[in-house]
Amino acid sequence: MSLFNPTDLSCPHCGQSFSFDLCASVNADRRPDLRQAILDDTFQQATCPHCQGSFRMEPQLSYLDVGRGHWVAAFPRTQVDDWKAVEARAQEGFNRSYGTGASAAERELGASLTTRVVFSWDALREKLIAFEAGLDDVALEELKLLLMRDMQEPPLPLGAELRLTGVSADGTELAISVLDRTGQELESLDVPRDLLDEITADPEGWAELGASLRAGAFVDVQRLSRGQ
Ligand SMILES: [Zn+2]
Repeated sequence: MSLFNPTDLSCPHCGQSFSFDLCASVNADRRPDLRQAILDDTFQQATCPHCQGSFRMEPQLSYLDVGRGHWVAAFPRTQVDDWKAVEARAQEGFNRSYGTGASAAERELGASLTTRVVFSWDALREKLIAFEAGLDDVALEELKLLLMRDMQEPPLPLGAELRLTGVSADGTELAISVLDRTGQELESLDVPRDLLDEITADPEGWAELGASLRAGAFVDVQRLSRGQ
């Protein structure tokens, strides 16, 4: 089930406090509206009742979609440099619910789920878009490496990241945003889907990188560069 905890927040605009329902877990099968809010970039948006200022809480939740076959643990962007420890804790949590410690039915369910760890709403949204479009997210990360290699002049700012934000209706173009380290968009790219298909068609050429990217649930190029 989807779980919300009433939590006292301090408004970053006026400093006054108010209660907000922080989301701890999303069950997308039962609450497709929550999945849609994540895709719409509106989920966990808070409006202060004192000054009407708005801000968005960073994710700290588990996301389950049995129908589409994935489970994602989402964490704040600021924790990405700690990804090794966070990934390990998330995997332990998954194992408790769906692994060796769980009932036979839960283990069977767990075996049917692709598990992922992400940092930021942008990264969670990206996974949902990729899974919906049937894109291999490991190949998507490899595509980002190709794109970043071609973006060396001028070099990307430190901590910049690429995120899939959409797929064209005919499926031939991938919309990819370049974000700075705080998540602000610097530019957006339209990338031919063919580039991704070329990567998928050459598993041997990408074997070593692919193995590094899928070594844990944090399937992201950042695992090659952050928190070393
Ligand atoms: Zn306020």
